[in-house]
Amino acid sequence: TPVIGVLALQGDVREHLIALASADALARPVRRPEELAEVDGLVIPGGESTTMSKLAVLFGMMEPLRERVRAGMPVYGTCAGMILLAEKILDPRSGQETVGGIDMIVRRNAFGRQNESFEAAVEVAGIGGGPVEGVFIRAPWVESVGAGAEVIAEHGGHIVAVRQRNVLATSFHPELTGDHRMHALFVDMVRAVK
Ligand code: GLN
Repeated sequence: TPVIGVLALQGDVREHLIALASADALARPVRRPEELAEVDGLVIPGGESTTMSKLAVLFGMMEPLRERVRAGMPVYGTCAGMILLAEKILDPRSGQETVGGIDMIVRRNAFGRQNESFEAAVEVAGIGGGPVEGVFIRAPWVESVGAGAEVIAEHGGHIVAVRQRNVLATSFHPELTGDHRMHALFVDMVRAVK
């Protein structure tokens, strides 16, 4: 059984732990480099990406995270987590560093104020059994991807899910729904590497 961590500096950690457990992984929170070293894969949750990024630097996690992602550890980021996995943020607030891992440019809060929160059915390549329920909360979208990144879902003409080798990212929050197919896909990615 793969051991999958959830980066527990800020955000909806508990919901991811539950979703991973129901997708047959051993899930545990990760706050320190020693804990990161013990997991086979990692989820970066939704929350607030500026805060999460600052806390990652403060807790000495930024470099260890970059190293593990480079070394091929599977990582899945939702919403703020997607932002942390982008090589580049459009108009980052000063000091917002990212872990990187996907050759993409993201726009924060892209879906705008009037639609701060909405749900939509999203067809995801590689997920069978119909569209997933996409929960979008002040969600980013992906402006553009590089050659190595594969777009696996769009909504309203905008890219909302991307995969590049060991790294997966969605603008939306499957952990807030009862549908754990995205987590199951990620657990499979971890099994394939392990
Ligand atoms: N808007 C948030 C950010 O920029 C992300 C929101 C979320 O994770 N639900 O970090």
